[in-house]
Amino acid sequence: KITVLGSINMDIVMKVEEMPLKGETISVQDVLHIGGGKGANQAVAASRAGGKTNFIGKVGKDEDGSTLCSLLKEDNIDISHVKVDEQYATGRAFIMVNRNGENSIMVHSGANMTIEDKDVADAQAVIRESDFVVSQFEVPVHAIEEAFKYAKEHHVCTILNPAPAIAKLDSPLLAHTDIIIPNETEAASLTGVIVDSEASMLEAAKRFVEMGVRYVIITLGSKGAFYYSADSEFGFVSAFKVKAVDTTAAGDTFIGALASQLNVVEGKITNMEEAILFANKASSITVQGEGAQPSIPHKQQIDAVM
Ligand code: ADP
Repeated sequence: KITVLGSINMDIVMKVEEMPLKGETISVQDVLHIGGGKGANQAVAASRAGGKTNFIGKVGKDEDGSTLCSLLKEDNIDISHVKVDEQYATGRAFIMVNRNGENSIMVHSGANMTIEDKDVADAQAVIRESDFVVSQFEVPVHAIEEAFKYAKEHHVCTILNPAPAIAKLDSPLLAHTDIIIPNETEAASLTGVIVDSEASMLEAAKRFVEMGVRYVIITLGSKGAFYYSADSEFGFVSAFKVKAVDTTAAGDTFIGALASQLNVVEGKITNMEEAILFANKASSITVQGEGAQPSIPHKQQIDAVM
């Protein structure tokens, strides 16, 4: 069982020819409303990949909130720990995509940022019964710390995706993190090591281990992923060669799919390479489709990738 503590947003995708300049008014060719938010995307990826999935999060008292909750439910995600905030609106991301597929994104966190320790405390039973607890930085770090601390007390494996990148982490969170999964930018911002070669990946991974993490997986876009464990085992798993049209939710798919496959025996991961291979397959499908949740694949599709 996988529990995701995280963000849930309505993505408002606006298709434009060119991004507007300062002071300019442009017309939008098409507006789409798509389910998003890193937390929700990772939950959808885990569930579609075959994992029994719970979501802990917050929406506003509005139509976006109820639409997004129905979408999660349709994906067989248990939403009994999604609360409705009385004051703030459901999180929204305003995404402009130009004709070259490049994007500019503005996020209003809204209800996501009102998640507090009490919300985590109310979900203790579901955390305790999970195999994995997964989170990201689109919800308050303090709430993540509460969840991870509680998870570790109950021998539940914790997975942190430190995204979006933050420059400094003023929290002992990594001491309660079993697996950290950053991309190259996020790895660099937390360790201070520019990640651009095998030696620098090893260096960044070692810094994370010094901060208390046991496994490090750095995702490398079209190159695949690098992994490292506290007992110094490391390696690469290549990505699949595909034509990427929109990389939104590539990282989220990787994380959800990975969590659905990992085997942990007495605190040790026994199938790291196979699980990463599966996650690479899953995200290679996501990058071939547009938008966040609509492009996340189901297990059958992932297993069919050669
Ligand atoms: P993020 O989306 O968080 O920045 P990455 O860009 O590192 O994360 O992508 C996550 C994973 O998605 C990669 O490890 C890889 O498996 C897959 N992926 C990303 N971009 C491509 C691509 N162009 N072709 C194939 N796979 C890709």
